[in-house]
Amino acid sequence: MRSISWLRRAVIDAAPPNQYVGARVHPELEQLLVLQDRQQKIRQIQTEIKTLPLQRNHLESQLAASAAGVEALKQKGRQLEMGRKKLELDVGTRTETISRLKTQQYQTRKNDEFQAIGHEIERYENEIRRLEDEELEVMLAADKLKAELEAAEKAARATKESISRQLSDLETKSKTLESQQEELAKEWDALADKVDGDLLSQFERLFNSKGDAAIVAIEHGVCTGCHMKVTTATASQVKAGKEIVSCENCGRILYDAQ
Ligand SMILES: [Zn+2]
Repeated sequence: MRSISWLRRAVIDAAPPNQYVGARVHPELEQLLVLQDRQQKIRQIQTEIKTLPLQRNHLESQLAASAAGVEALKQKGRQLEMGRKKLELDVGTRTETISRLKTQQYQTRKNDEFQAIGHEIERYENEIRRLEDEELEVMLAADKLKAELEAAEKAARATKESISRQLSDLETKSKTLESQQEELAKEWDALADKVDGDLLSQFERLFNSKGDAAIVAIEHGVCTGCHMKVTTATASQVKAGKEIVSCENCGRILYDAQ
């Protein structure tokens, strides 16, 4: 065990400004308070680390949605082009039919056949007009789609750029948190080495079961862990700072913060 003066200096160095200075605290509790501070920080960092994959997934799904939007427009464009080509082919076959019919009409000598062929030709010409109107509509839709696609591609490029930046920020954050955690864990180990084994296991049991703190201050006779008033006897035992005293309500170890 090192000297108390070393401990006090260590506590003062490590603790938030003036938190424990001047308080009558059982010497071993001083170490535990610093240990607890590190453990709380480690827990905060672990909680933050756990949210990182979620944030990453969220960004990646935004990226995928933006790419899928562009792909859907491209697919629509391909379908329009296929439709247009089919209309063009339909016009082509009808044009050929008309030219064949015109030859037949030229060659016939029968008046009724001439007229019948004339009606056929007219029917095909009407079909061609209808097909060409349809083709024009498809081409207008394709032009509109092309503008939409350009806008979507521009937006997707901006999204990709922003998300790449955010993903790389997350990567940096993850590395920083990992190294902070490592650093704190090292500090924790070094501090734990100096604490009595039984007291350390009591502390760890309490910390894990309470989830927030194993050692808490008494303020105006109230335990700041469970917010219940402690007995006068407990309060004065804590104030004396000669032994480890627990809150009779929640079991947390108490120290005097006055
Ligand atoms: Zn309590």
